[in-house]
Amino acid sequence: MRTVDVAATDLQALAGALDEMSARRLEAGAQRARHLLAGRRVWNVSATERGGVGELLRALLPYAAGAGVDVRWLVVDGDPGYDDLTARLTHAMHGDAGDGGGLGAEEMAHYEQILERNLAEVRDAVSPGDVVILHDPATAGLAAGLRRRGAHVIWRSHVGADVPDEVSERAWTFLEPFLADAERVVLTRAVYRPGFLDRATVRVIAPSIDPLSPKNRPLEPSAVTELLRGAGILDGGSADGPSSASRASSVVAAGGPVPADARVVLQLSRWDRLKDMTGLLIAFDESFEELPPGTHLVLAGAEVDSRDTAGAEVLSRCLQMWEGLEAEVRSCVHVLCLPNITEHNALLVNAVQRLATVVVQKSLAEGFGLTVAEALWKGRPVVATAVGGIQDQITDGENGLLVRDATDLQGLMRHVARLLAEPAFADQLGAAARDRVQREFLSDRHLLQYVDLLAELLS
Ligand code: UDP
Repeated sequence: MRTVDVAATDLQALAGALDEMSARRLEAGAQRARHLLAGRRVWNVSATERGGVGELLRALLPYAAGAGVDVRWLVVDGDPGYDDLTARLTHAMHGDAGDGGGLGAEEMAHYEQILERNLAEVRDAVSPGDVVILHDPATAGLAAGLRRRGAHVIWRSHVGADVPDEVSERAWTFLEPFLADAERVVLTRAVYRPGFLDRATVRVIAPSIDPLSPKNRPLEPSAVTELLRGAGILDGGSADGPSSASRASSVVAAGGPVPADARVVLQLSRWDRLKDMTGLLIAFDESFEELPPGTHLVLAGAEVDSRDTAGAEVLSRCLQMWEGLEAEVRSCVHVLCLPNITEHNALLVNAVQRLATVVVQKSLAEGFGLTVAEALWKGRPVVATAVGGIQDQITDGENGLLVRDATDLQGLMRHVARLLAEPAFADQLGAAARDRVQREFLSDRHLLQYVDLLAELLS
């Protein structure tokens, strides 16, 4: 396994972003955590540093460390077969059969073999009484070995199906034998609980975002412009003469820099089929005539690494489709590949989200959808499909707009067009969006729910 360094962040900084009552609760929670966890380590194990799970751990663990908890983060060392299998498992948990590859005895043997090897590397470092939080289907197979070692084991799933079906049942059947050794299971939504898991062992905890991280901290419009021009994403505009954006940019994979005066419709996601970037591209193309002049679509995701073959396929499909657009539409569509997992990536995500006039999340399934929380926090009007945790974040018409049917491209684009045409309504939704995240989806609420969970297990 690989260790990811966790640098402590002073909890006072977070407290400073909260109202007085919330700040006091946070301080009391930190004291309780120090008391409960004295002499213990808290290990988090994930299969990746990317996507929502990586984001969540990068946001929360430094605060736990800052509160005085000895917190560690390990990433499983897999291989291509394990990566494919765990991606398939994750999709299946959403009810998506994907490439139809199996979840049978052969896959199980490989999964166990990889996790056994990883366990052997860390087993001795984990002490009896330590707490281990295993994240997502990819790590469930570690539960038994860690339990034997005397650790308290929590398994947390960040994915699930709104309505269980045959495919999601298959994923749960695969995981069921491993979960018997988890003392608690944490799910993002109550409806994600499979029948075999006793209600008494399940806790529902929604993810959160860190208001002070490079991805979410305040950025002045001038800083947004500077960052985006520097990366070649935003055009300098004629008044500035030749801009840095007119240089060839490796970040802009297609479509060149976005004009400075464009109204931007953005979707920012991993290049995952279930995010339906291609569906949004089709919707934009079909509705192009009805959108106000100067509307541009930006599809943004991180660079795809060599292990993510499915991601590479989605990206290349988007680029192919871009090639096939009529010239007029093509000049209004931009595909961005942001450099990975660096602070620079996070700042670019922050800036791109703030550049957007409207943010779309056209996911076909979603565990929670941190990208939605990030956009809401920035006061953007969001149009999203009513799937998974997006439904917990957006109340239709109040702090965003929902589309019930993911195949309803016209309905989606009608919402987008309305927000472009009615800036006062868009601002009203945006203000309510930020309030909602402040109340429900920031790190303090999340940390306190963890303290409650640990208190149950350890007191
Ligand atoms: N993300 C990023 N850079 C990118 C694209 C996405 O950092 O270029 C982040 C995004 O900001 C969010 C996370 O990846 O924090 C995605 O989490 P989400 O819950 O939306 O979906 P998941 O990837 O877990 O399915």
